[in-house]
Amino acid sequence: MIKVAINGYGTIGKRVADAVVAQKDMKVIGVSKTRPNAEAFVAKQRGYPLYIADISKKAAFEKAGLEVAGSVEEMCRAADVIVDATPGDVGATNKPLYEKIGVKAIWQGGEEHELAGFSFNSSCNYKDAIGRKFVRVVSCNTTGLCRIINEIDREFGVAHVHAVMVRRGSDPGEIKKGPIDAIVLDPVSVPSHHGPDVLSVLPHISITTMAMIVPTTMMHMHAIRITTKKAVNRDGVIGLINNHPRLGLIKKTAGIRSTAELKEFAMDLGRPRSDLYENCIFEDSIYAKENELCFFQAIHQEADVVVENVDAIRAMMNAEKDGDRSIATTNAALNFKTIQNNH
Ligand code: NAD
Repeated sequence: MIKVAINGYGTIGKRVADAVVAQKDMKVIGVSKTRPNAEAFVAKQRGYPLYIADISKKAAFEKAGLEVAGSVEEMCRAADVIVDATPGDVGATNKPLYEKIGVKAIWQGGEEHELAGFSFNSSCNYKDAIGRKFVRVVSCNTTGLCRIINEIDREFGVAHVHAVMVRRGSDPGEIKKGPIDAIVLDPVSVPSHHGPDVLSVLPHISITTMAMIVPTTMMHMHAIRITTKKAVNRDGVIGLINNHPRLGLIKKTAGIRSTAELKEFAMDLGRPRSDLYENCIFEDSIYAKENELCFFQAIHQEADVVVENVDAIRAMMNAEKDGDRSIATTNAALNFKTIQNNH
């Protein structure tokens, strides 16, 4: 059993904890919080031992009825691998602790590539993560881009990608962020950081990205145009999507043309937290002519990286040599089948 600790039990951390617990070959030995709040009570309800970053706050947790198992350092010492899901840039400050203890660690997309020296996507570079000490799971948008670009590249060859990211303003539970009534160019300059981030996983891809933030919390939407090296055809692209365990196809028959309807569908299907682990590619948007491919894909920012973290654990711990098998194991344990299997 691989012993996993989740440092930072927030939007991503709580989902990774539940995904880890569902696997037969790993377990959660603890999760960490900085203050007693609703998520800390969820950790208690799930039975995850609760550790705290600042042990001087122990009394505040206990006063709230939350038993404290110890400090984050103690948690890290008891683990084989840490999933660091603290907020962006906070993760970097934890590296000296992981190095001191000599424990493996996974960071999230809010950290720079250089922190881990290796950026991960299960479908693209699983085997290069085997046995590694430090890994960074790329951001939600980069994960969504890498999955589909890699598939198109393998089949048709990618000459250039142009992608426009329409990003959610904040996560549903985040009350401090906006925008409330604006479309914010983020950044105004081109390219946005997403293109260079794709190169941290797929260095040979030519890509330009642009991004803006809109007042929604549900999902991101990508408008993607790929110039291919070989002539591309619609049926071939749909076949690739259908054969990939984390590429979803939203069929015309579902009548879905928005992130709102998509999330409602996920909720009605009984997905945990209405999570969509897969890219949600709109079948009707797929346009293929000669060497041009265009489509829309929706990305659930809170969910797509969760399954990638589970595979990263397996690779780093040398528990599975084959990436496709790890992906299949992770998906099966979560009882997850891509959305086209539901309509
Ligand atoms: P979050 O704010 O929801 O959760 C972070 C958690 O870490 C909180 O519970 C907070 O209490 C805790 N924390 C803060 N400082 C800490 C410390 N010093 N020690 C231990 N715990 C601490 O953040 P999130 O959205 O889950 O993001 C985590 C990481 O995942 C970031 O790198 C982010 O960029 C990345 N990410 C986020 C999303 C998303 O949409 N939310 C998607 C993909 C990747």
